[in-house]
Amino acid sequence: MQSLWLSVTFAAALLVSVALKFWLATRQMRHVAAHRAEVPAAFAATVPLAAHQKAADYTLVRSRFALLSLALGSAVLLGWTLLGGLDVLNTVVRDAVQPRFGSMAYQLALLVAFVLIGGLLDAPLEIYNTFRIEQRFGFNRMTWRLYLADVAKGLLIGAAIGLPLAALVLWLMASAGAWWWLAAWLAWVAFQLLMLVIYPTIIAPLFNKFEPLPDESLKQRVQALMARCGFAAKGLFVMDGSRRSAHANAYFTGLGAAKRVVFFDTLLARLTAGEVEAVLAHELGHFKLRHDPKRMATIFAASLAALALLGWLSQQQWFYTGLGVTPNLGAPNDALALLLFLLALPPFGFMLMPLAARVSRRHEFEADAYACAHASGRDLANALLKLHEDNAGTLTPDPVYVAFYYSHPAASERLAALRMEPA
Ligand SMILES: [Zn+2]
Repeated sequence: MQSLWLSVTFAAALLVSVALKFWLATRQMRHVAAHRAEVPAAFAATVPLAAHQKAADYTLVRSRFALLSLALGSAVLLGWTLLGGLDVLNTVVRDAVQPRFGSMAYQLALLVAFVLIGGLLDAPLEIYNTFRIEQRFGFNRMTWRLYLADVAKGLLIGAAIGLPLAALVLWLMASAGAWWWLAAWLAWVAFQLLMLVIYPTIIAPLFNKFEPLPDESLKQRVQALMARCGFAAKGLFVMDGSRRSAHANAYFTGLGAAKRVVFFDTLLARLTAGEVEAVLAHELGHFKLRHDPKRMATIFAASLAALALLGWLSQQQWFYTGLGVTPNLGAPNDALALLLFLLALPPFGFMLMPLAARVSRRHEFEADAYACAHASGRDLANALLKLHEDNAGTLTPDPVYVAFYYSHPAASERLAALRMEPA
């Protein structure tokens, strides 16, 4: 009975989230198409019609692609769960591995098989996105050779980091008793903090070249800004983002000695020194206002709640049967429970998306205000506009779509807020 109830609730949550995503995407497409003919008045002097129309076309093509991905992704999710895909995979892997190599090997093999099959199912979409859509709009710089090298490196790094972490969590689930989820959470938090140090210093350099900012006059200017903001500079790096894409970006990353600001070479090629300074001031704003620690604290709290929930669910027979899987007899169910939980959670968690997006947009406004106080707001506005145009971001998104998804405020709102800051 409880099993049927879970099946129905899960199917309903999936249906509601898909319908909502579909509705949002079609709203966005209608809104962008309706404003394609004319540059909005506020941008008429600065944005050429051709750029505005390219942004509209790019948004429309991407939205259509998102609808296709949504349909395929939902079918795959149903296939894994209610239609019994994970059950079949589990039976095959368990019977092949458990008798000869034991239960830990079986569980790791199940996780690996699941990840590999999921990756293979996603690959055609990813390839289409990179080599068709991004190519068509002139953004792709990726070659097949680089793509395959990235996949190979990703698999190796994923195995080197993911397997020990998975083994640790599975071991805790088996041997730490009823409070295993608390121990697993502590391991997870420690892992995330470790990644903050390892990612920028070891992993990211495997995919891109990072060089210290070479331009002396720009460097001095940037260091003066950092001194003004009381920021102990560990590193200013230029990344060869142009190897893969023409999209431009800048970000702040790391923890402690691994703390660094990274500029894409594509960004430096496009902005004036004053504009780079303003963009950096915005990134420093995120840092000074402690946006990252706040975001991480929220994520840690949410993952603690999720793991506590999993601690309870994994003990219930109906959790497995309700999601299309027969629990193992004579073998641990921990890896199965982890997979089912990761599969079943997103349709429910999707409802929290507007909340997270809203907090993120508020942080962007705060970082912009900080940038205005420590660098030129006019430069920041110009930089944003250039980057927006280069990335073919639409100037006329649907407001409901923005409220739901956008991690950054719509360009018009952001520029309007900047103009109100005292110069
Ligand atoms: Zn930002």
